[in-house]
Amino acid sequence: MPNKCDLLETCGFFNKFNSNLEVINQRWIRLYCENLDHSELCERKKIRNQTGKPPADNMAPTGVLM
Ligand code: SF4
Repeated sequence: MPNKCDLLETCGFFNKFNSNLEVINQRWIRLYCENLDHSELCERKKIRNQTGKPPADNMAPTGVLM
């Protein structure tokens, strides 16, 4: 089992949308949030690492807005 994203506990997207049907259907939580290596490709994580601030909570790991 891969390690989870280190930002998971403070991530607005994860906390608000982890039960959302589209999120579940897209498997974003499993693909990104629950896989530390793959989470490095998350657009939210890139923005947070580059700016020090999180993007809007409704931005998905792929960068699309919910
Ligand atoms: S959405 Fe991105 S930053 Fe947030 S927990 Fe998932 S992988 Fe980490």
